[in-house]
Amino acid sequence: MIKFNNVSKVYDSNGVHALDNVSLNIEKGEFVFIVGSSGAGKSTFLKLIMREEMPTSGSIIINDMHLETLPRRKVPYLRRTMGIVFQDFRLISKMTVYENVAFAMRCVGKRNDSIKKRVPYILELVGLADKANDHPSELSGGEQQRVSLARALVNNPALIIADEPTGNIDPEMSYEIIELLSEINKRGTTVLVVTHEHELVKSFGKRVITIDDGRVVSDSDDNRFVAI
Ligand code: ADP
Ligand code: ADP
Repeated sequence: MIKFNNVSKVYDSNGVHALDNVSLNIEKGEFVFIVGSSGAGKSTFLKLIMREEMPTSGSIIINDMHLETLPRRKVPYLRRTMGIVFQDFRLISKMTVYENVAFAMRCVGKRNDSIKKRVPYILELVGLADKANDHPSELSGGEQQRVSLARALVNNPALIIADEPTGNIDPEMSYEIIELLSEINKRGTTVLVVTHEHELVKSFGKRVITIDDGRVVSDSDDNRFVAI
């Protein structure tokens, strides 16, 4: 699903080596945490996956698409295979919870009848059925993040990318958000969570890839076979 082969990224503007010779493989159906301190290269890693940036060298394959050669006109298609959850939620404040989620379906041209079936189902899944008619400002941080998750899920992407999803919510809610992502993963969606919250990560026992100074310094997956 995500394959990086010797990927390096140097920003032209300042010569910073944001990623240095990164190789990794994330299979369909996996749940992976990407951890690292500020400046480690996590955002750069995500930007490369979404093709907001191009690698300086190396190759990236996402959902069978080779990003170095993917024509610009196909980038929207690439991005539709992923649902993105942001730290700051990015909900539309004038719209209700229902409308925020429905809007994501309208954007990709879904018909009204399928929107009417799908949105309530997804809101139920994230535990927000009773908040459908509220506006984001009436919700707690954890609830807003669940709306954001519902919006990311509604078009049934193969991959969910959550960029510091718990950065703006309290620890208890953070745990619930990761639990929810874990349930979504069990239904078959590949999940990638970027975070600097080591403590939260530890309690889940998932694969953890640590990036430091642009390099993969550990991957818990490497230990899987050693342990047997
Ligand atoms: P993280 O998300 O782990 O905090 P980033 O990928 O944002 O790390 O940053 C990695 C390094 O690349 C940092 O030194 C940062 O300053 C630099 N960097 C990130 N984005 C840019 C950019 N657009 N232009 C120049 N340097 C950048
Ligand atoms: P985060 O780690 O939460 O993503 P950052 O502060 O690292 O936030 O980055 C915020 C934005 O600024 C990102 O889009 C990043 O690519 C960009 N950025 C980070 N460092 C630099 C830099 N040195 N020069 C230019 N842009 C940068």
